[in-house]
Amino acid sequence: MRVDCFTLFPEMFTGPFDSSIVKRAADAGLVEIAIHDIRTWTYDRHRTADDAPYGGGAGMVLKAEPLFSCLDKLLGERKYDEVIYLSPQGAKFTQKKANMLSLKKNLLFICGHYKGIDQRVIDKYVTKEISIGDYVITGGEAAAIVVIDSIVRLLPGVLGDSESALTDSFQVESGFDAPVYTRPAEIDGMKVPEV
Ligand code: SAM
Repeated sequence: MRVDCFTLFPEMFTGPFDSSIVKRAADAGLVEIAIHDIRTWTYDRHRTADDAPYGGGAGMVLKAEPLFSCLDKLLGERKYDEVIYLSPQGAKFTQKKANMLSLKKNLLFICGHYKGIDQRVIDKYVTKEISIGDYVITGGEAAAIVVIDSIVRLLPGVLGDSESALTDSFQVESGFDAPVYTRPAEIDGMKVPEV
């Protein structure tokens, strides 16, 4: 799978994608993740990526032109199954949606910031808006990390048998995974239940 992600803050991805399962998957060539700095596609010497909202009001809006330019470039290079904008207005992300997205080949994510991105980017390019819940976070980066992690761990070969995602919560009929214990068999009078 190939994942491209557009952000104003590429450094936010360094820790989460440079450790644990996602790193292992990338090292094994099971996923290729490219993080793109939106400012690379700005035109002025101050690398301005945002502007005041039309009609006034608080906050700033991510400009359309840099996003149009970077999206045109990438969409010209390969076909994307989905162009996803992380957004509080999007459809709520679920395990079922992670399962569906894990079957795709190329995914592109756009992380908003400030008040969001110019609506024309959504109208022209976005095929799916995804929300990670009914609350507002500062930027789409943390949301993209959650969504991408949940997809990558489902790719064939990423998890070993002992870590199998198929027994995780929301994949099993009962809804949740069972409580887990390890040694010792008893601690502070609390025993591991009989199987
Ligand atoms: N003004 C927007 C609103 O009220 O809907 C909130 C903007 S938020 C501060 C900045 C960016 O964070 C958004 O453009 C989006 O990319 C991301 N974001 C915030 N909350 C999110 C959520 N629940 N799910 C996914 N992305 C979110």
